[in-house]
This record gives sequence, structure tokens and C-alpha cells, in this order.
Amino acid sequence: DKNMNFENHLDFAQAQDQQDELKSYRDKFFFPVINDKEVLYFTGNSLGLQPKAAKDYLQQELDDWAKWGVEGHFHAKNPWVSYHEILTPATASIVGANESEVVCMGSLTNNLHLLFVSFYRPTETRFKIISEAKMFPSDRYLLETQVRHHGLDPDEAIIEVAPRDGEHLIREEDIIQTINDNADSVALVFFGGVNYFTGQVFDMEKLTQVAHSVGALAGFDLAHAAGNIPLKLHDWNVDFAAWCTYKYLNSSAGNCAALFVHDKHGDDTSINRFGGWWGHNKERRFLMENTFEPMTGAEGWQVSNAPVMGMAVLKSSLDIFHEVGMERLRAKSLKLTAYLEFVFNDIVKEFPNVQLEIITPTDPERRGCQLSVKLLGTDKSFFNALTEAGVIADFREPDVVRLAPAPLYNSFEDVYRFGQTLKSLLASW
Ligand SMILES: *Cc1c(COP(=O)(O)O)cnc(C)c1O
Repeated sequence: DKNMNFENHLDFAQAQDQQDELKSYRDKFFFPVINDKEVLYFTGNSLGLQPKAAKDYLQQELDDWAKWGVEGHFHAKNPWVSYHEILTPATASIVGANESEVVCMGSLTNNLHLLFVSFYRPTETRFKIISEAKMFPSDRYLLETQVRHHGLDPDEAIIEVAPRDGEHLIREEDIIQTINDNADSVALVFFGGVNYFTGQVFDMEKLTQVAHSVGALAGFDLAHAAGNIPLKLHDWNVDFAAWCTYKYLNSSAGNCAALFVHDKHGDDTSINRFGGWWGHNKERRFLMENTFEPMTGAEGWQVSNAPVMGMAVLKSSLDIFHEVGMERLRAKSLKLTAYLEFVFNDIVKEFPNVQLEIITPTDPERRGCQLSVKLLGTDKSFFNALTEAGVIADFREPDVVRLAPAPLYNSFEDVYRFGQTLKSLLASW
């Protein structure tokens, strides 16, 4: 049992922190102080905290800009013309890819649109996209408008797999059944790696394998997966993926995103795409020739030159991830989230008048660090009271509070203190 030895005591939590080999990383981040009190921050799944080093990384580029002007493209300490390349090793290791398979660029939804240009090529017979019900709205709008762009009807072309009646999670067997039921007409299987609402992790390797077995491609939105759970995109044979970097990857609001294209596609420069000069053969980029000649690899999907200021901030966080590695991060995450689950359940069972239920999978392999709590016997005012009490979590309509202890900077003591806050709130509710 994953919870066997847990205790809901301050001493116990502090002892866990003492033994935590990643404990020193907490000090590398700024925690917001609201009403003179450092908050309990559980929203790294929405906007990660600021690395204290971010300012120096950014200052370096501002100084080089002041010093060099346009010459900074070649003479800056980190030359801007290739700035995106220094983000690649860490990015590749976070998602389990070859370096040729990833590039930092653009923004998440934009990147997905670009990838759909290449990997959603519906034909008269094979045109359907199989996806999860209640996707993140931006992804749903992506699907709807892509389908319409090809002159198709979203009601026919988008097949959503929903949880069964009375259930919160989508059963993998139902996804597989849906793919097989549409074996001759499905073009693309497209899921979030981790569902943003419930925190459910989908078996990306399995879904990819089933998609391929019927002749379809498989793509994933990894907004809630990158930096949260271990990924092996290359080995899983995933066709394409994209993710933002401001959630678990702590890069700041709206900052540069990233994408993955498997080498089996990246090596094929004949694949149709929407081009721009940064995706052009880099040896010939500045010859200003007329005909687009894509680079091999994910870089061949780049459109515009690198937004260096944002990327500098992203680098300050990626360097931390590179040092820690996803394996150590996941090991702590499994324990920290199991502790949150334990503390939460230990407290709510004392207050049967207010029904709070965790809808995230109980199996640690089927979830990342996030736990989603359904407010059954109460409403958003309960969430507001939590915020008042110094807990920064988030609320998703109609009735879910998401709590994400980020293993890089959250502590066992944070979790214990959250429990105490919850307890005093429930006692007076
Ligand atoms: C956060 C998130 C987005 C946000 O998209 P942007 O293009 O970065 O604004 C999209 N999809 C999912 C699943 C998300 O979690």
C-alpha cells in the first residue's frame, strides 16, 4: 500500500522533508507572499513559480542587446541566431526524445495547428479524429476549426470518448474500442497526455500502438504532462506532440512552447507544412532564396526566429530540470502526491457533512502530481474560502478544485499545512 507509513503530523512531514534529496530546490523559487503570509502554492499545473535565477538569465540577454544591438545575433554570449538550440538537450530529456525530435518555438495551440497541417490530412474515407470528451477548450476549438478547414462537419469528424455514466474517468478499453470501431475511417487519435480536469494519465504508448494498428496517426497535447510525468515519446513511437512551458516547466505566463515530431517523420522533408525562414535549411537561411527547403527534424517546423527574452527565462528553469532529471522528480512526486491524498482523506473523513471527493485515479501510475477534488456538498464559496486562508489552488467549472504539489518546490510540510487549513475550514463550514 502506497500510504502505509504516512502520518498526518507536522513532525512526520518535516522528517520527510529532511530526507528529501530534492529539498534544496525549493529555495531556487520565489513563493508569493499574500497578506504578509507565504502562500501554500499548489498551482504549478497552471503557472509554475519563478526561478530565482530567471532574472540573471534575462539580464544577460538585455545586457547583450544593449551592448551589441543587432550584432547580438552572432556576438551575444549565447548567440541569438541559435538560441533555441541551447534549450534542446533539456527539452529532449524531459519528454524522452532524440534531440532532433524537439524544438522550442511558438505557443501551444499555434504549434498544434502547425502540426495538424502536416499530420491531419483527411481523405474522403479516412477523416475522423478520436479524442477525449471535455477536452481543454483550446484543444476542442483546434479540432473543430481544423475539421471545418477541410470542409468537414465536426459532428461527423470528431469522435469523443466520454466517461461512462456515473464515472469520472475515461476507460482505456473504451478508447481502444472506439478506435477499432472506426478502424477504416480514423485519421488521427489525439489526446491530452494528462487530462487537465481529472489529472488522468492516458497510456500514450498503447493508444499510439492501437492508432497505428488501424492505419491512423497519434498525437498528444502534453500541457499537463511535460515536466510532470516521465515520457518516452520516441520509444512509444508517438507521431507528434506539443506542450506549453509555463505550467510545470516554470517559464512564465504565455512563454515560448515546444513541439515533438518523431524522427520517422522529421527525416522526411517532403511532408507538407506551413513554412517560414527559421524552418529553412540553416546553412542557406540568410541567402534569402525563393524556394523553401525544410530542415530535417522538428526544427523544420519552425516558422519564425527565436523569442530570446522569453527563452532566457525558460532556460533558467530547464537548467534546473536538467540537473534534477525526470526520474528523481517523479520519485518525489509519487510520494508527495500520495501524501496529499492520505492527508486529504484523513481529514475529510471526519467531516461527513461536506462531501469532497478526489476524482483523480488512485493508481499512481495513472496520474501525475495533480489531484482533482469534486465539491459535492458545497460550491465555489468553499474554494474562495480556501484562497482566503492562503491556499493557492484553482477552480474549474462546474465544481472541481485542482491541487498540484510540484515536486520541484513543494514540501511535505506544505501538504501537512494544507491539511490543517482544510480541517479548520471544514470545522466551521
Ligand atoms: C494550458 C493548456 C492550453 C493552453 O494553450 P495556449 O496555446 O498555451 O494558450 C491548451 N491545452 C491544454 C490541454 C492546456 O492544458
